[in-house]
Amino acid sequence: MSAKYIFVTGGVVSSLGKGLAAASIGCLLESRGLKVNLMKFDPYLNVDPGTMSPFQHGEVFVTDDGAETDLDLGHYERFTHAKLSRDNNWTTGRIYEQIIAKERRGDYLGKTVQVIPHVTNEIKTAMKKVAQDVDVAIVEIGGTVGDIESLPFLEAIRQMRQELGRENTLFVHVTLVPFIAAAQELKTKPTQHSVKELLSIGIQPDMLLCRTDRFLAKEMKSKIALFCNVEEGAVITAKDVASIYEVPLVLSQESVDTLVLKYLHLQADEHDLKQWEDIVHRIYNPKDEVNIGIVGKYVEYEDSYKSLKEALVHGALAHNLKLQVNWIEAEGLEQDEASRDAQLGDYDGILVPGGFGKRGIEGMLQAIRYAREKKVPYFGICLGMQTACIEFARNLCGLADANSSEFDPATPHRVIYKLRELRGVEELGGTMRLGAWTCKIEPGTLAHKVYGKLEISERHRHRYEFNREYEGTLTAAGLRISGSTPDGTYVEMIELPDHPYFIGCQFHPEFKSKPLEPHPLFKSFVGAAYEYGQRRKAARHAEEVEMFLRPEKVARP
Ligand code: GLN
Repeated sequence: MSAKYIFVTGGVVSSLGKGLAAASIGCLLESRGLKVNLMKFDPYLNVDPGTMSPFQHGEVFVTDDGAETDLDLGHYERFTHAKLSRDNNWTTGRIYEQIIAKERRGDYLGKTVQVIPHVTNEIKTAMKKVAQDVDVAIVEIGGTVGDIESLPFLEAIRQMRQELGRENTLFVHVTLVPFIAAAQELKTKPTQHSVKELLSIGIQPDMLLCRTDRFLAKEMKSKIALFCNVEEGAVITAKDVASIYEVPLVLSQESVDTLVLKYLHLQADEHDLKQWEDIVHRIYNPKDEVNIGIVGKYVEYEDSYKSLKEALVHGALAHNLKLQVNWIEAEGLEQDEASRDAQLGDYDGILVPGGFGKRGIEGMLQAIRYAREKKVPYFGICLGMQTACIEFARNLCGLADANSSEFDPATPHRVIYKLRELRGVEELGGTMRLGAWTCKIEPGTLAHKVYGKLEISERHRHRYEFNREYEGTLTAAGLRISGSTPDGTYVEMIELPDHPYFIGCQFHPEFKSKPLEPHPLFKSFVGAAYEYGQRRKAARHAEEVEMFLRPEKVARP
């Protein structure tokens, strides 16, 4: 059986949540027993987002096969069981890279190479590749309708409809219906214009997902339906929600899945959304909250740590807790100890996430020292593991200048240095240790307890590694290496046995956490943080009682 296609486009403005809409439709179709795959086309010219600033682009999501992809792929994996790879994310740059390589090889046999049909054919081939062996392939077109860059992709999906017919293709357009406070009215004009723009390139949307902050009344839906030439039932209220995990439920209440089945002539089971309903129930009814401090340098822009934030949410949900995260700018911790302690004093757990470059490193080291000495649960991811090793070397092994050669190439103690196999490679694009690697865990470690097994596979994205020459010195002082590659080359996990919870990992576990399958490291870290917070609260309470009963005995600061 050949797959059906759902094409998701966006209009009016960016950031309407096309990725979440695509992921949620995937989730709904899976809940009806269908097999789905999802892919995204990004109209920019970079070959992949790997070399783009997280400020510009948000997180770089890494797949098992080591592709550096758009953060929407993270949503796809969190909401569905689709197995994503480099085939699931294409940029204009990568499409052209293929075409130019073919042209240089002479594959076009002397023809003039053109956007239509050569570029559009390349795009269609990529779409068809991910649609093998699934019932429905959901294809998200990045950017906003009307952008010059997205034209070849829109032309390609127009051709797909032409080729495969109405019952095998569905056009879903995500648009905005803003509420104008001055008029106290919802406005449909931007949606009308956006649909007109689509029509001008030959695409008549079948379904409109209208982002809005309130429910669209029947009259409003009829008006949009009339002007935009869609069925009234296919004008969907995509209302803002407090949790992204509610989106599938909101869309199913608006019968999106039923409509998709109808339009695509698909037979499927009744949907079963119990697990998602349970998640949403827990999100809105937490038993308590947990307060995590994340110390990094892109902290003012949450999108740069999308998966991390979600993985923490999953970890908190596993304990029925509401997650409070505070993003702490690492540079702000570089002053004196008193200000550091004041800034970090109220967290139940401290996390240093992945990152690149020198800025903020000293502040991260301060935060790690604080967590280590005060026995606050600590979780270091990638850079957060590397900095934990540097902090340990400096403050417990007497190696005052210990560093990573990334931050100080001349350091006498390169506790972290460049991956040996990459020495001499200077180009930035695609030179990292990327994707899934197997890691062997040492029996009897905290890592073993957390995972409950001795072999794991996690995703990587880094250039530098722990320098095994320092293993003896650091382990003699109490650091434990709890995970390594099976051949022993790379150190993958470290921990401190005399600390209640101090773990560092060279990989990025956040990429594999899902709301329905919280990652064990996030679950255990949040659990440890909550316990620590409860203990601290109890101790503070006891101190207050003591102060009340016997003020003379309690030394005042
Ligand atoms: N900058 C470090 C490295 O390249 C850490 C990378 C990361 O945290 N993703 O190894």
